[in-house]
Amino acid sequence: MTSAGNPLGYLSEQLDQWRREGTYQRLRVLESESAAESRFDGKQVINLASNNYLGLTTHPKLREAALAAVRKYGVGSGAVRTISGTMSLHLELEERIAAFKNVEACVVFQSGFAANAGTVAAVLTPEDHIISDELNHASIIDGCRLSKAKIHVFPHKDVAAAEQKLADLRDTPGRKLLITDGVFSMDGDIGPLPGLVAAAQAHGAIMMVDDAHASGVLGRNGRGTIDHFGVHGRVQIQVGTLSKAIGVLGGYVCGSRDLIEFLYHRARPFLFSTSHPPAVAAACLAAFDVLEEEPERIQALWDNTRYFKAGLASAGFQTGMSETPITPVIVGEAKQAHELSRALFDEGVLATGIGFPTVPRGKARVRTIVTATHTRAELDRALAAFGQAGKKLGLI
Ligand SMILES: *Cc1c(COP(=O)(O)O)cnc(C)c1O
Repeated sequence: MTSAGNPLGYLSEQLDQWRREGTYQRLRVLESESAAESRFDGKQVINLASNNYLGLTTHPKLREAALAAVRKYGVGSGAVRTISGTMSLHLELEERIAAFKNVEACVVFQSGFAANAGTVAAVLTPEDHIISDELNHASIIDGCRLSKAKIHVFPHKDVAAAEQKLADLRDTPGRKLLITDGVFSMDGDIGPLPGLVAAAQAHGAIMMVDDAHASGVLGRNGRGTIDHFGVHGRVQIQVGTLSKAIGVLGGYVCGSRDLIEFLYHRARPFLFSTSHPPAVAAACLAAFDVLEEEPERIQALWDNTRYFKAGLASAGFQTGMSETPITPVIVGEAKQAHELSRALFDEGVLATGIGFPTVPRGKARVRTIVTATHTRAELDRALAAFGQAGKKLGLI
């Protein structure tokens, strides 16, 4: 259709181009619970595409807590937090997380995305400076842009480069924020916190860490990278998510009481978007009980991680620099990644193909995430599927 007849015709043209290039993606539809094996598009498959690290999406304690909250409090909070939508359950959850993380205070946002974007945009002004790892998550990048502060990107995990940027800005007015992912979501490697924290401290910069993929995975009982590296008290802004290992939905910011009270006044997703339903807060609270009571889940996650990585490596796949349960199988071009993903699905495994712009060109991959609840038999079947699909496409 011509642009005169359809002002959005350019979108259709772009979609057609993606179809020709083989990068068009149809949404896979989940028709069961999100679990180690799930039903997608009418087919039962081993699910290596979720962030459900500890299997908490279906944990009986979380289910029961959510159901009890629905019965007692209904299904919605009725308002944004600052008007009348702060429920006692929300505060209880925030206190619980703050104690878990060993910080003064915590505020929960609707999502990890909202937590990052809302916080960076709130604490900085256009006169300030952000020193940001090149592979930081999109929600950090959006927060940086919304803040209008000047953004200085450093090469991935390059502490010396980050420190040099801070040194270069020594005499430039404005606050400095050094920001990194705790675990990088596409490569599964861990941010160099000790070096970055020292650099921030030496230059009086604010240190912020996004621990979305580390919460429930790294550190004692899943306390995250700050605990993993023992840098408590040296990271002023800690972000985490309730949507991944915690198994529910939400994001949070941990730090000083004043940081949190400031965010109550200035973080736009907190001020202008309705708070979580009570069932979400109640299920999250139950999840923190499970983290303390069932450490064997985290042990099983890491046992499965080691087993699966070793299997992929011995099959001859390139798995990059992962140090966590996120294991990319790097294939090159986006088209190949999507082909591998489709071939795996035919073999009974769901693992998503990821290409540019989510990852750099030439680094397209199929990303896998094992969970605590995958059995060895499931992992063996998944490895066999990778072997079949990899040979079929000439990758190994
Ligand atoms: C997933 C993710 C987020 C967003 O978390 P949600 O709760 O899903 O919105 C933020 N940062 C990183 C690094 C992530 O991987």
